[in-house]
Parts: sequence; C-alpha cells; structure tokens
Amino acid sequence: MENKGILIVEDEPDIRELIKYNLVKQGFEADIAGSGTEALEKIRLGQYDLILLDLMLPGIDGIDLCRMLKSDAALSGIPVIILTARSEEIDMLLGLELGADDYVTKPFSPRELVARVKAVLRRCSARAGRQTEEKLIKAGPLVIDTERYLVTREDVPVELSAMEFKLLLYLVRRPGKVLNRDFLLDAIWGHEAYVEPRTVDVHVRRIREKIEDNPSDPKIILTKRGVGYYSADGEQT
Ligand code: CA
Repeated sequence: MENKGILIVEDEPDIRELIKYNLVKQGFEADIAGSGTEALEKIRLGQYDLILLDLMLPGIDGIDLCRMLKSDAALSGIPVIILTARSEEIDMLLGLELGADDYVTKPFSPRELVARVKAVLRRCSARAGRQTEEKLIKAGPLVIDTERYLVTREDVPVELSAMEFKLLLYLVRRPGKVLNRDFLLDAIWGHEAYVEPRTVDVHVRRIREKIEDNPSDPKIILTKRGVGYYSADGEQT
C-alpha cells in the first residue's frame, strides 16, 4: 500500500494540506492541484494511483473533470473519490453516473478519508489483476492477448488468420478438454456453408506450423486420435 501517488484536487488550501499531511503520514505520496485545469494537466503528465476530487472548483469543476477522466481511455482506470460538501449532493451525483469509485462527505475525519482511500485502492488493484488475467491467456510458450488479437511466442509475434486465432483461443480457453471436429466447426465457423470437417484439420495444421517448435510433434495443440483436438496447457504432467 506504500508509495501510491495520490492527487488531491481541492481549491481550499487548509483542506488540501490537511489531507496531504494525513496521507503522507500513512506512507502515501501526495500531490496537490488547486483547480480543475491544473489537475487535468498534472493527471495527463503524472502517474497517479488515485484522485481525490473536490466538486466545487475554479475552472473545470469536479463533475466535468470526473466525466473527462472517465471517458478518456488512458485515464479512466484511475480511481476517483469525490469530496462533496453535503450528503444530499451524493444522491444527485449517483444519478449522474460519473463513474467515481467512492464519495466522501465534508467535513470528514482524516482517519475516515485515509481508510476510504485504502479500500478503493485495494478494490481497484484486485479488479485490475482480474482483468489482466482474462485479457492475457498463456498456453505453454504462447501469450494470447484477447483484446488486441495478438499472439506472441516468447515475445515474438505470431501471425494468425482470424479463423486460426479464433480456433486457437477456443482450444486454449478449455485446457485438456477434447473437442471433436464437428463441434469445433459449429463453434468456430458457425453454420457457414461449404465447410467440411477437414477444414478444422487444415487450420490446426497451419496453427501448429506457426506456434510449435516441431509441428509434427506438437506440444500446445494436441490430437486425440479419431476424436479431435485439445490444448495441452493445464494437463497433469
Ligand atoms: Ca471547493
């Protein structure tokens, strides 16, 4: 939990200094911005792990700033805790669906605020971990990036056609499960006309030529003779 960079966006110097003091005391790194405009500049340049955002700010206000952050693909992953002056505002804010991760009402105790910061950071790092896990699938020496449709083998890109990619992904997502040709045809090609079971074999052969050390002695996509194919990853060896 230490050395996490937190940006405090607050135009009242006393409040931001109080927050900063308490965060630093807890081992966080804290930076401050006194306006929405300054905050946006700092966020674009810096590497913050969390933003504490006051709503009433000169320049860009907290609502607009939060919207900008959450609609920017590069910045939307940074958790935001909104600081509001009145609890009634929270209902209004929830209705706006700003994408903020938490809300804290002023006046708050520094202890409560620090606890909320820690909770949000914990939650977000757990979420990020899960997303990375699903996004990247490993199969032996292969890493499949399911979002960018990229396959690398020991960091070297592997060029696959769309169907080859789909078939490979389908198999490695079900490690150890033997899938027969007809099943794979349905799953990958759907009900396209003029596709015969042999198409699966042709594709598996091409995939093996691209991903295996020795395509005639495959280690990643294996053959179950007379049945179909399965991915080796996850096999008990
Ligand atoms: Ca303010």
